[in-house]
Amino acid sequence: MNILQCKLLVIGAGPGGYVCAIRAGRMGVDTVIVDAGPLGGTCLNVGCIPSKALIHAAEQFHTAQRFTGDTPLGIRLPTGPTIDLAKTVEWKNGNVGKLNSGVGALLKGAGVKVLFGQAAFRDGKTVEVATPDGLQQVEAETIVIATGSRPVDLPSLPFGGNVISSTEALALTDVPKRLSVVGGGYIGLELGTAFAKLGSKVTVVEAGPRILPQYDAELTAPVAKRLEALGAEVLTDALARDMVTRSKLRISGDGADHDIPSDKVLVTVGRAPQLTGLKLDELSLAMDGPFIRIDDQCRTSMRGVFAIGDVTGEPMLAHRAMAQGEMVAGIVAGETLQWDSTCIPAVCFTDPEIVTAGFGPQDVDEAAVTVSRFPFLANGKALTAEAQDGFVRVLARKDNQQIIGIQAVGHGVSELSAAFSMAIEMQARLQDLAATIYAHPTQSEALQEAALKGLGRAIHI
Ligand code: FAD
Ligand code: NAD
Repeated sequence: MNILQCKLLVIGAGPGGYVCAIRAGRMGVDTVIVDAGPLGGTCLNVGCIPSKALIHAAEQFHTAQRFTGDTPLGIRLPTGPTIDLAKTVEWKNGNVGKLNSGVGALLKGAGVKVLFGQAAFRDGKTVEVATPDGLQQVEAETIVIATGSRPVDLPSLPFGGNVISSTEALALTDVPKRLSVVGGGYIGLELGTAFAKLGSKVTVVEAGPRILPQYDAELTAPVAKRLEALGAEVLTDALARDMVTRSKLRISGDGADHDIPSDKVLVTVGRAPQLTGLKLDELSLAMDGPFIRIDDQCRTSMRGVFAIGDVTGEPMLAHRAMAQGEMVAGIVAGETLQWDSTCIPAVCFTDPEIVTAGFGPQDVDEAAVTVSRFPFLANGKALTAEAQDGFVRVLARKDNQQIIGIQAVGHGVSELSAAFSMAIEMQARLQDLAATIYAHPTQSEALQEAALKGLGRAIHI
């Protein structure tokens, strides 16, 4: 068997792993990265990027369709659009391919050796990789586990046939006439909304009392309203049971069973750490439930073994994985670093979009915190973009006006997320946000107005 020695071995080339390897390589650390699949991991191949491509295509299709009716904009198309989903998927795959090669070029430029194949631990310093050319043994001073996550199914509703995960949903070449979505969380609603815009009759089956239960009801209400306008049916307090026939999903809710005709059933009830085949039991690492336990430097319970990204649990977000990867690379290169980010922003790319950063009203004692909201209804740019639904909400401490949370729901608010997290990370106060000059007309003015409102002096409301 071939033996390769290196200072750092990164297992998994998703956003956590590849960022770690590129940074380490650039800092002069002799680095090897291994992946069983294509570079870029879940995020680039079957997650963030393809889902946003589909969401974009669906939005374009829906807009064109809207113009076949009467619109206040005065635009009228003589006939409705058609969609060749196979072509859309080809376009999406083209984008993914470009980014795959980009990651490969960056790794090469950083002097990182890339191995393709399934990795399995022999011990805390040795890993075997089953490459297409045979077994390759890698001996490393430090190992980073960045193996990510995989979709979970339900025991009574296993993946297969018409029951699909997000991976298959992103590769469909025909729009399903009737799509049932089990789980009204991030993935279910992002993809469910896209397919509703593409013409599927969508039914969302959510176990909780409302969609996106991780967000507060005020933030999710505009999303629920939009789903209804798109003709999607949302069933809450409902549990998916099984397929009674190939195209009939049985659910229980309202104290009874119901059957939902479904050409495809998309199951999006969360994700589990990807540890299959890794032989992690060789290391006996301390775990947090199914996830690998880490400290504030992403160290596991074994010296010289780090873990980053989805394999370490929630929040399972690409930018968290990347930030962890960058930090670990620095530690391996000899820097003294630890995780001290105050907030990890989260964006749900529904229609409208939701952004959260820092604490929300449900996390704080409202007696000690000022919560101020500014509606997009009173924002000129939002009005001209037909984006009046939604608001920006700012939470600040009453004693010193320090911003501790900012959230928004509205069209295109994902692009405000940088300002939100920057304000919190830089310990800005309401006065800082209020005194900043915001370009007009932009939706970001709603952030200033929400801060001004917190100070009791909003102008446009
Ligand atoms: P992953 O990206 O999962 O990468 C892990 C890599 O490890 C994979 O390439 C895998 O092949 C490899 N691997 C696993 N085991 C082995 C082994 N034994 N040997 C060799 N290689 C192995 N997050 C966001 O922040 N924004 C979004 O908009 C967003 N949208 C999403 C949409 C969907 C449909 C999905 C499914 C996820 C989305 N996410 C989003 C979540 C995001 O994709 C993950 O948080 C992110 O990919 C985690 O990165 P990671 O590096 O930890 O792992
Ligand atoms: P999720 O945790 O967001 O949502 C799962 C939903 O399924 C929950 O609302 C839950 O109540 C519901 N559920 C669970 N069991 C059920 C059952 N038996 N019947 C009906 N409903 C049931 O999980 P997800 O949507 O699969 O996403 C997984 C992870 O991927 C998320 O944690 C997120 O971090 C990440 N992600 C992020 C983005 C983004 O950042 N925009 C997008 C997609 C995915």
